[in-house]
Amino acid sequence: MLKNILYSVLWNKCPRCHKGDVFKTNNPYNLKKFDKMYETCFCCSERYEREPGYFYGAMYVSYGLMVGWFVITWATNTFIVEASTEAYLIFLSVTVVFFTPLTFRISRLLWMNMFTKYDKTKG
Ligand SMILES: [Zn+2]
Repeated sequence: MLKNILYSVLWNKCPRCHKGDVFKTNNPYNLKKFDKMYETCFCCSERYEREPGYFYGAMYVSYGLMVGWFVITWATNTFIVEASTEAYLIFLSVTVVFFTPLTFRISRLLWMNMFTKYDKTKG
């Protein structure tokens, strides 16, 4: 279960069949195309955007990922690094901007995996 979700998220694969790509480019830092998705899976015909506004829910996943990042970096800074608040805020701002394309894609893939189970007979 977790292995299947990780596979789909890490390799940009269809949550149903694990064969077709979801995003058109595998490089999240190709800034012109990182958000472009296929409408359906070329392998199993899974429709990625199930209904209009389906991916609004991925924003909550994105929020959760960012809160996790804030907590981890805050705890690391408070208990280990002990840098000044200004330095921490600059670090946080830079990393949040840097991770935005990655967070966008991971959030959508996680969101899709919440509603679509891997089915090896579809591959
Ligand atoms: Zn598929």
